Amino acid sequence: MSSAVDVLTARDVPLGGPRSMTVHRTLPQRARTLIGAWCFIDHYGPDDVSVTGGMDVAPHPHTGLQTVSWLFSGEIEHRDSLGSHAMVRPGELNLMTGGHGISHTEVSTPATTVLHGVQLWVALPDEHRHADRDFQHYVPDPVHVDGAEISVFLGQLAGSVSPVRTFTPLLGAELVLAPRTETTLAVDPAFEHGLLVDQGAVRLSGTLLNRAELGYAAPGSRTLTLANETDAPARAVLLGGPPFGEEIVMWWNFIGRTHQDIAEARQAWEAASDRFGEVEGYPGDRLPAPALPHATLTPRKNPPLSEGPAMTEPAPTPTVRRVDERHRYAIEVDGATAGFTAYRDRDDRRVFFHTEIDDAYAGQGLASILVREALDDVRSSGKRIVPVCPYVAKFLKKHEEYADITDPVTPEVLEWLDGVLKR
Ligand code: MN
Repeated sequence: MSSAVDVLTARDVPLGGPRSMTVHRTLPQRARTLIGAWCFIDHYGPDDVSVTGGMDVAPHPHTGLQTVSWLFSGEIEHRDSLGSHAMVRPGELNLMTGGHGISHTEVSTPATTVLHGVQLWVALPDEHRHADRDFQHYVPDPVHVDGAEISVFLGQLAGSVSPVRTFTPLLGAELVLAPRTETTLAVDPAFEHGLLVDQGAVRLSGTLLNRAELGYAAPGSRTLTLANETDAPARAVLLGGPPFGEEIVMWWNFIGRTHQDIAEARQAWEAASDRFGEVEGYPGDRLPAPALPHATLTPRKNPPLSEGPAMTEPAPTPTVRRVDERHRYAIEVDGATAGFTAYRDRDDRRVFFHTEIDDAYAGQGLASILVREALDDVRSSGKRIVPVCPYVAKFLKKHEEYADITDPVTPEVLEWLDGVLKR
C-alpha cells in the first residue's frame, strides 16, 4: 500500500539586499514546518547571472541549524568564521554547522554564468543546538538504479552511504531520472520524505509533481516510486528523516526554542559578539539584523495536514500604506513593518525599483498583497507604472489588468533612476 502524497507548492520570495534573485520557497509554509529535521528549502534558478547579478551575501549569522548548499550549476565561494574557505560546486555537498553561533558569506564566482541550486537548512535537536562550529565537504559517487542516477549527500539510499555526520538521522539525495522511466527505492519506514522537483514532472507514489513543487510522503512507506513523466531527463531532490518532534522558533537566520533565544542571538549579532566570530576576506559590511516584531515569536509545529491548516489560526490582516517622504509603500502586520516596495516618481510615471519582505514575515504572501495595493494606488492617483524591480515586473506578467497603465523600462529611465539613487 502506498500512502498519499501531499503537494506543497512554492511561493516566490524576492530576496532583499543586493540580490535581485527570486527564490521558490517550499519550507517552511503554513501547512508544514519540517520534514524530518529539514526546516528550510529555497530553490533557485536557472538564473542568468548577467541579468540577476548573481549571489553576494554579506556576513550574516546562524544559530541552531546546519546549512546545506547543493548546486546544479554555477559556483559559490563560501567563507565562514570557523576559517573555512571553500568552493561550492555542482554535485558537492557543503554542510555548515552553526550551532551556538557562526557567520558566513556566499558569493557566486566570476566564472558563474548560470546559478541554479537549492539552499537547505537542518534544525538541530535541543541537546545539540549549541554545538561547535563545523564545516564538512563531501563529493558522493553517483549510483545507478533503474534509469535513475542518484547522488546521496546525506544518509543512505540505493546502497550509497554518506559519511557526513548529522545530529538526527537524515536523507538527502539528488536524483536524475531518465525519460519515461520508473524507479522504486527502498526507504526507512520511520522517515517522512519530501521530493522537490527541479526539472520535468515526476510522479511520486502516484501523485504528479511539477517543477518547484514539493511532494510530502508521511512515515510508514517502505518504498517510494518515482516516475519521470516527460521525454527529457527529470531532476529532483529527495529529503527525509524521522519526524523531528520538537517545536522550533525560526526567525531571520536563527533557530531557537523561545522568543528569548532569538532576541539574545539577535542582540549578540548586533553587538558584534564573538559568539558569531569574524569572516575573513569579504570586502564589505556585515548584514544588520532586522528589527524584531512587536509580537512575541512563538514556536511552530506541524499542523496535521488533514485539518486544513489555515482554519485554526486566523492570520492578522496586513495593511499597506504609502510613505511619501520615504518614497515607498510599506506593509504592516500587527503594527510592525514587514516589508516595502520602493519607488521614485518621474513625471507621471512611478518607477518601482526594489521590493523586499523581512524574512520573519516570509511565507504569508505579503509581497503580492503589498505590490497589488501599491499598483492600485498608482492607478487611483492617475499615474503610470514602470517596473524596474524584478518582483514587480513578474507580478505584472501574471496580472494583465495593469497593462493599460504600465510603461516599459527604457534605458532613459534606468539612467535617470541611477542618477536619482546616487544622490
Ligand atoms: Mn546563510
